[in-house]
Amino acid sequence: MRIIIVGSEMTPFVKTGGLADVIGALSRELAELGHEVVTFLPLYRALKDKAAAAQCVSNNIRVPMGGRSMVGAVYELQLGDRQRVAFVRQDELFDREGLYGESDHDYEDNAARYLFFSKAVVASIPALRFVPDVLHAHDWQAAFVPLWWSRTLAPAWRLRTVFTIHNLAYQGLFPRRQFDLTNLPADYFGVKGLEFHGQLNVLKAGLLYSDVLTTVSQHYAQEIQTKEYGCGLEGLLKSYRGKLHGVLNGADYTAWNPRTDPHIVANYDSHSLANKVTCKRALLETLKLPVERAWAPVIGMVSRIVEQKGYDFIAETIPQIVTMGASLAILGEGDPDLEKRLQKLADRYPTRLSLRLCFDEALAHQIEAGADMFLMPSRFEPCGLNQMYSLRYGTVPIVRATGGLADTVEPYNPGTQTGNGFSFEACTPAAMLAAVARALETYRQRQHWVRVIQNAMACDFSWRKSALQYLSLYQMP
Ligand code: ADP
Repeated sequence: MRIIIVGSEMTPFVKTGGLADVIGALSRELAELGHEVVTFLPLYRALKDKAAAAQCVSNNIRVPMGGRSMVGAVYELQLGDRQRVAFVRQDELFDREGLYGESDHDYEDNAARYLFFSKAVVASIPALRFVPDVLHAHDWQAAFVPLWWSRTLAPAWRLRTVFTIHNLAYQGLFPRRQFDLTNLPADYFGVKGLEFHGQLNVLKAGLLYSDVLTTVSQHYAQEIQTKEYGCGLEGLLKSYRGKLHGVLNGADYTAWNPRTDPHIVANYDSHSLANKVTCKRALLETLKLPVERAWAPVIGMVSRIVEQKGYDFIAETIPQIVTMGASLAILGEGDPDLEKRLQKLADRYPTRLSLRLCFDEALAHQIEAGADMFLMPSRFEPCGLNQMYSLRYGTVPIVRATGGLADTVEPYNPGTQTGNGFSFEACTPAAMLAAVARALETYRQRQHWVRVIQNAMACDFSWRKSALQYLSLYQMP
């Protein structure tokens, strides 16, 4: 098949979160399965070096943006035999310091930036010398693609449009006046169109105008049809349940594999766990935590520091976790208030809590390898990638049973010795602490602990499976 993928970030070019991992891995996997793939990205300043060798396909991509027309260019970079990346260049919009904003503020013209991007992607397709069978857009930044396709090229060209929700909490909501930028007739701004409580909701364009809707785990596909998780769109999503599918993300084992990981001091697999201890000692040293406590459990966390990820629970319970005998290694950045609360605790427990407030790819790998457990007390988690990485690194996940966490982590049962981690249902600090206590208790029972690690490392969430599921949706009659 010929497949176009559209998103706002992609490894190895530019990444702020899991979306980049997914777009990078899915594009590559589809190409490896023999399909032809073009992935569209905005040409941000941050990736100009990496895109330096790209060839200009057209420097006259013209799209209407409200009352004026805007011009952009498209550049193409060949990645493999069957894989290309196409960069949409519009320096006024994308040649900036940040991706979505700077110093904690979103850019005020994000509606214009991503509406332009989405329209320009559609307008570039005829220039690609490539007749696509599938147009697969991701998240609100690309949600306008299926709609614009249906209004401009669709009458002459049949293809399947697919839209994937990676996180329903981000819907691309803007003041009503921005609707002009869509160049749609006024009746598209209504409850049955792109309106959401008087605002423009860009995500709705993807929900309404794509043939197939997916989200990144089966559990989350069910959850978003409920009031608790639906972010106000539960009614709409429920009415679309016939076209809504859950496809669990895969883990990119070329980047996340303890056997080959170049970021860690000693590579290992389930037969050479002594090397994991070497990684633990190295991690403690790097984080300036006492190496002589290497016998005691270390709990790792790597993620954006936001309420979604349960960091308020963490801040509330760190004194108890420390009293229970564990140390914590936290890497992340995000909400300044939560960062401050955590920093105070790190100052109070300098030998037990390491806090790194930055984005550090190498350290993320070192924490995955060196920690004993990995904590993800998320309020909601569409898929979550770190628990899958943790399983492969034998770093036992402790998760809230929601979204993709519920689909990938099975609680350990000492009776049957099955299960790959620990989980809790209620969204409360007490429930989280109880799960941490169960994990710490099991850690002290060596035989059981080794069993959980072995069960975890045997799990396989490779991309091949997910890519095949997407392919069957692309091909579905
Ligand atoms: P989300 O997309 O909601 O941020 P995911 O678990 O799906 O969460 O993906 C997060 C990805 O970003 C993972 O690959 C994780 O390792 C990485 N990541 C998040 N914060 C950091 C950080 N501070 N340093 C390095 N990697 C990070």
